[in-house]
Amino acid sequence: MKDSSCIFCKIANGEIPSTTLYEDEDFRVILDLGPATRGHALLLPKEHYKDLFDLDDETAAKVLIRAKRIAGRMRTALGADGLNLVQNNGEAAGQTVFHFHMHLIPRYQEDHAGILWKPGSTTAEEMEEVKRLVDSQ
Ligand code: 5GP
Ligand code: ZN
Repeated sequence: MKDSSCIFCKIANGEIPSTTLYEDEDFRVILDLGPATRGHALLLPKEHYKDLFDLDDETAAKVLIRAKRIAGRMRTALGADGLNLVQNNGEAAGQTVFHFHMHLIPRYQEDHAGILWKPGSTTAEEMEEVKRLVDSQ
């Protein structure tokens, strides 16, 4: 299904032009307009899924295979030293466009892109509680 009010549906399906690195019947990979680093790309399904929780299993599996292949090409072509896969779900997690997308962010030594988090702390009790809550679902 497409959502006629969704900008990424329009981009993924070619109604709005984009710099496309890859396209097949399921996906389009485009360059991000506000890149964290040189070559920052977005993998978009052509169907509208709001976020990870909305994805069907078949599409979810295809996403990682496609991300892996395009990431390999990007790393070689751009001479990247590393690459982050980032995927935000929900406003609290930084999602701003509510059409599932995977960020492919090539990394370069000393690029200073602020993508990694500052490690926090936890306790054995908290870890046990988290485990118990997840196990109970
Ligand atoms: P999010 O914050 O939802 O994970 O990521 C949304 C991303 O989409 C951002 O990195 C933003 O720069 C990018 N973006 C937003 N609108 C457009 C657009 O119209 N075209 C392209 N190519 N990227 C966009
Ligand atoms: Zn959409």
